Amino acid sequence: MELCSLSGTLICDEDGLYDPGSVNDRLLLKGTISEAELHFIRARLQRGLLAKAARGELRVRLPVGLAYDQLGNVTLDPEVRAAVAHLFECFEQTGSAHAVVKQFAAERLRFPGRHTPGGPHAGETYWKPLRHDMVLFTLHNPRYAGAYFYGRRKQLTDIDGHTRTVVKPREQWTVLIQDAHPGYITFEQYERNQQTLRANAAAHSGEERRAGPAREGPALLQGLVVCGKCGKRMTVKYHTRCNGEPVPDYHCSREGIATGTPPCQAICGAGVDQAVAKLVLEQLTPLAIETALAVSTELQQRAEHADRIRQMGVQRAEHAAEAARCRYLAVDPTNRFVADQLEADWNNKLRELADAKDEYERATQAGQRPLTNEQTQRIRALATDLPALWNNPATPIRERKRLIRLLVTDVTLIKTGEQITAHVRLSGGQQHTLTVPRPLRAWEAHTTPASTIALIDQLLDHHTYDETVEILNQQGLTGGWGHPFTVVSLTQLCRNRGIPSHHERLRAAGMLTLDEIAAQFGVTTDTVKIWQRRGHITGRRIDGRRAHLYHPGQNRPTDGRRRHKQPAAAAVATSRHDRPGPVADGITTTNSPGGAV
Ligand SMILES: [Zn+2]
Repeated sequence: MELCSLSGTLICDEDGLYDPGSVNDRLLLKGTISEAELHFIRARLQRGLLAKAARGELRVRLPVGLAYDQLGNVTLDPEVRAAVAHLFECFEQTGSAHAVVKQFAAERLRFPGRHTPGGPHAGETYWKPLRHDMVLFTLHNPRYAGAYFYGRRKQLTDIDGHTRTVVKPREQWTVLIQDAHPGYITFEQYERNQQTLRANAAAHSGEERRAGPAREGPALLQGLVVCGKCGKRMTVKYHTRCNGEPVPDYHCSREGIATGTPPCQAICGAGVDQAVAKLVLEQLTPLAIETALAVSTELQQRAEHADRIRQMGVQRAEHAAEAARCRYLAVDPTNRFVADQLEADWNNKLRELADAKDEYERATQAGQRPLTNEQTQRIRALATDLPALWNNPATPIRERKRLIRLLVTDVTLIKTGEQITAHVRLSGGQQHTLTVPRPLRAWEAHTTPASTIALIDQLLDHHTYDETVEILNQQGLTGGWGHPFTVVSLTQLCRNRGIPSHHERLRAAGMLTLDEIAAQFGVTTDTVKIWQRRGHITGRRIDGRRAHLYHPGQNRPTDGRRRHKQPAAAAVATSRHDRPGPVADGITTTNSPGGAV
C-alpha cells in the first residue's frame, strides 16, 4: 500500500477506484481502517514537531561555526569563529564568492568542516582549503545571521522513486524567526549578501545582464555600459595594441548574435574610460582623503586578521600535541599496547604541529608582512591624494573598478560620426554628459608626419634610399610607429605614398641604364663598368647594390677598345651588339633626345 502511494499507483476493486496516496481513499479501501490510525499518529507527531519548530526550539543540525552550549543555546563556536567571520568580511570587501575563495588561497587560510553524524569522527572539526560551494552554502544560510528557520526545502519523489530536494521561496518557508540567536552578521547584511549574489549570478545567466562583480580586466566600465541605441547592456571585448597593451571595446552584439545581423554598436573604450575616470576623480575631491585612508587601514586590518587566524591554527596544533603528551604520560607503562598506541598518536600530533608551524612561517613570509614605517608614510602620503592613488600602477584595476561602481550607476554610450557621447549616471542621481572624440584607428594614429614626408620627397631628388635613411636617422626622425627608418620601410612608405624614388627621378631626367649605354656604345656591360671605373664616362649610383644610371650624351672613349685587356672578347661582344644594329640604334635614338631634353 505504501509503495503504491509513493508511486501514485491506483487500486481498483468491484466497487471503485482508489488512490492510496489520499487518506480518504485509503479509508474506503476495505480492511484498511487501521491505516487511519497510522495517519493520525503521524500527523500528531508532525504537529508536535512543527509546534516546537515554530517556537524555534526544535534542535536541528547546526552548520559549522555555530554550536549548542550545555544549556542547549546556540552560540558561535569559539574554535572556528575567526575563520567563519573572516569569510563574511572577505565577501563584504570583495563582493564575490569566487574572490573570497581566491583570497583564502592567497593567504593560505583553511576553512573548518564538521564530520557528519554516524561516522567514526562524528561531530569533530577538520580543516580544509575553502571551496566555492562552501562559500555559497555559508552565505545562503540564514543561521549565520542569527535567524532560525525550518522547512526551507522540500523533497519531491518522482515516479521512479528518485527523490530530489528543492529550495522553496522565502515566503513558503515553514518557520523563519529573525534574531533567534547570536550570529556572525545581521539579517540586513544577510539580505544584502543575497542581493549581491543574485546580481552576480544574473551577470552570467540573466537575460538582461546586470553589473557583475568587478573583474581583473582593464575595462573600467565593465558591466556598467548601456547601449544608447537599443538600451541593452554592452559586453566587453579586448583588442591588443602592437605594444601588447590590451584596449577594451564595448560591444552591443546580443541582438546581432540572436538574429545574425551586424552588431548594433562597437565602441573603442579607451577614451571613454579615461573621460569617466576623470569625471569621477573631479567628483571625489572632497572625499578623497577619507576614502584613501579607509582603503589603507582596511588593507592593514585584513593582513593582521589573516595573521591572527594563522596563529590560531598553530595554537590548535600545540594544544592537540600537549593533550596527546598528557595522555601518553598518564598511561600505565605496563599496558604496553595502549602506551604504544598513545605514543604513536603523540608523534602524529607533533608532526602536525611542525607542519602547522612551517605553514605559518611560509605564509607569513609570502603574505602581506606588517607595513614598515616607511611604507606607512608612503601610504599616508598617497592617501592624501586620491588621484595619485588612482594613477598609481600598483593599485589593482579591480579596486579602481570597485571605486567606480560605488559612484557610477551606469554609462550610456552612443557613437555618432567622429564623436562618442557618454551619459554618465552617478549614484547620487546626478547626470553628466561627456563627449569624447572617436579614438584614432591604428593607421590614423601612426601616420608619418607631413613634414617628414616633404623632407623625404626633397631628399630623394639627390639621394638614394640608403643615403636618405642615413640622413633621416641622423636627424632623429622616425616613421608613424616611432621606429627608425630602414631602406625597406622607406621604400614601402614611398610606394604607398606614390613618392618617386631617386632611380625613377633620374630615369625621368633621361639617364641611361647599363644595358642602354652599353648598346649605345656597342660594347659589353663589363666594358662600360671598366670605363666608368677609369673615369672615361660618368654615372650615378642608384641603390645600395652599386647599380648605376649613366648620363646621356657622353662621348665614347676613343681608346676604349685598344686598352681593353681582351680585345678578342670585346670584339665578339661588340659584334654581338652590332648585329641587331637597327634595334640598338632604335634605343639610342629614342633615348638620346629624351636625355637631351
Ligand atoms: Zn545596441
